[in-house]
Amino acid sequence: MSESSSRRSFFRDLAAAAARALPDPTPVEFVTESSQPLLNDSEMERYSRQLLLPEWTELAQLALRDASVLVIGAGALGSPVAAYLAGAGVGRLGIADSDVVEISNLHRQPLHFTPDAGAQKAESAAAKLRFLNPDILVEAYPVYVEEDNVRGLIAHQDLIVDCSDSFATRHLVNAACCAAGVPLVEAGVVGWSGLVMSIRPGETACYRCAFPVEPEHAPSCAEAGVLGPAAGVIGSLQALEALKLLSGTAPPLTDAFLQVDLASLEVLRVAVTRRADCPDCGPG
Ligand SMILES: [Zn+2]
Repeated sequence: MSESSSRRSFFRDLAAAAARALPDPTPVEFVTESSQPLLNDSEMERYSRQLLLPEWTELAQLALRDASVLVIGAGALGSPVAAYLAGAGVGRLGIADSDVVEISNLHRQPLHFTPDAGAQKAESAAAKLRFLNPDILVEAYPVYVEEDNVRGLIAHQDLIVDCSDSFATRHLVNAACCAAGVPLVEAGVVGWSGLVMSIRPGETACYRCAFPVEPEHAPSCAEAGVLGPAAGVIGSLQALEALKLLSGTAPPLTDAFLQVDLASLEVLRVAVTRRADCPDCGPG
């Protein structure tokens, strides 16, 4: 036997020994299934930039596709929130708003344009969102969210994003979400000040734990004014929280709210603990 054939024989025996030491090979069928992309080509292209994030897996994208989210309010906060959630691929997106578009809305509500003046905001917003992402289902609810309909609106939703502009509505939505166990992102903006808070009912402090009493006189945007980009910052933070809650890719802002001074750009994270006597999330 030549030296080279002896060496080949040695390596062949070594390879055979190594193969015997390996566990049984994985069934071919399993490899084929698991290597199939979970998203189709169109989805891969549309969501490619968020899929590049190491945390944002195809499973995270599927979680969004399977999610039903209701955005309450299609105004200054609701416009960026709904646009980002539609763009990101939330599969079923509801928009509730009873107002009509006014020219004075347009500087801060970028889902509505001048020709939309007089149109229902929910319908105006839904029309733009369907252009933005035709692969998702967008539902318009041109109704005022109140005691009689709030439970029906939040039923079967995976997440509520409250973009309403009054303490009374925020308390109403918070109470309904706590009762139904539906996660919620709250936010508000007026003047140069905004805040954001995420809530997992029964697990983390709720909006009423943070703000138990409605202020006697909380100024509205119509009274105190607001700049469009200021509302855009808070709405973007709210959309970011919604994506975190839906995908599980980053820790949401729970048991705390973020207070943002949009003039100085100082940000304060205020810790909130659950109140045992909270009428919304307490043991009752
Ligand atoms: Zn509470």
